[in-house]
Amino acid sequence: MKTTLIIGAGGVSRVVVHKCVQNADVFGKIVLASRSIGRCEVIKSELPHANIEITTVDADNTDELIKLISKCQADIVINVALPYQDLTIMDACIATKTPYLDTANYEHPDEAKFEYKLQWQRDEKFKEAGIMGLLGSGFDPGATNMFCAYAQKHYFDEIHTIDILDCNAGDHGYAFATNFNPEINLREVSSKGRYWQKNEDGIGEWIETEPMEIMQVWDYPEVGPKDSYLLYHEEMESLVKHIKGLKRIRFFMTFGQSYLTHMKCLENVGMLGIEPVEHKGMKIVPMEFLATLLPDPASLGPRTKGKTNIGIVAEGIKDGKKRKIYIYQVKDHEECYAEVKAQGVSYTTGVPAMISAKLMLKGIWSGKGVFNMEQMDPDPFMQEMMTQGLPWQIKELEV
Ligand code: NDP
Repeated sequence: MKTTLIIGAGGVSRVVVHKCVQNADVFGKIVLASRSIGRCEVIKSELPHANIEITTVDADNTDELIKLISKCQADIVINVALPYQDLTIMDACIATKTPYLDTANYEHPDEAKFEYKLQWQRDEKFKEAGIMGLLGSGFDPGATNMFCAYAQKHYFDEIHTIDILDCNAGDHGYAFATNFNPEINLREVSSKGRYWQKNEDGIGEWIETEPMEIMQVWDYPEVGPKDSYLLYHEEMESLVKHIKGLKRIRFFMTFGQSYLTHMKCLENVGMLGIEPVEHKGMKIVPMEFLATLLPDPASLGPRTKGKTNIGIVAEGIKDGKKRKIYIYQVKDHEECYAEVKAQGVSYTTGVPAMISAKLMLKGIWSGKGVFNMEQMDPDPFMQEMMTQGLPWQIKELEV
């Protein structure tokens, strides 16, 4: 029987655990390990008949992780803690020769960089250890990379432009809350925007924009028209390397006016800072303090109504003719809560993590080294999405 080690016990982890239990024939025994035992206990209590062991681990400590992975003889490690822990967990996987998977690129707590560099640098070590490391297997990154790979494989000879379109039209009733870890979420949306395009000499360049400077209205199927703002998002870094003939890639995310107004006020008073400040003789990080005040994303589940719609629009050439397609997935927040006690953002992240882990454990996806999602064959992943709660659609658009 296989043993699956899941690290982190937040909103995304809850979905991964529920989904692994639904696919218990592949995942076998589940060991759920996190910084504090409380949230592990809650998840375990939701699945009383499942084979789940819970324990604590400090995932910032590689030695502790090595001991845990060796003790439970994990066949795979699913990292759904925070991006700060990616490198320590990857190093523990190298030391124990255990396959690794995560959903977000490594971040240093003191500096938001949004890049894969330090994880890609471990490619040789993964190769030497003879194991596979899969990066960014949530929805975006994750399913969006798969949509691009699927478009490349079946619909185009060359893709010239990609727009990734992420809409969360869920309403949780709070004036301001984030749908996943507040610190990670607020760093992402308060940073400068960036997109990639080839210049006249055919050289790819990153073009920087002010935060929320570029907006377009996109009519999301089953949701309706929404203001969508250009952001930098990590999957673009790997997609520019792997999608043939690409000339431009951009990422857009929807935000409501209330969210943007709160963000602006918080930013203006310095609450989004990630540098420590002195407060009554103590050092505090404003963003961390704000995260403490905001609702726990895992608590949004029972309150959130509405849908998510995340997809890609790709334009390019097939058999000498121009072509444009839209691949997207719509998910209802209340449906997610009814199934796994989580809101749609955790659900749409956790299900792709489970699917990739399943394909790795079954040997359908294999390799030695560190990979991004679009380097894998998209077909088995796209098939699993259809049956694991994330059915997607494809539309041919007018060029
Ligand atoms: P949460 O904050 O809800 O959960 C994080 C969990 O990690 C908590 O249980 C926390 O422990 C645990 N943790 C934090 N630090 C440590 C540590 N040092 N050692 C052990 N455990 C630790 O986050 P989410 O579930 O919302 O997000 C999980 C991951 O998913 C993040 O990396 C996020 O960036 C990513 N994500 C990816 C998306 C995608 O589409 N690709 C979309 C959304 C999220 P404790 O319970 O003690 O706080």
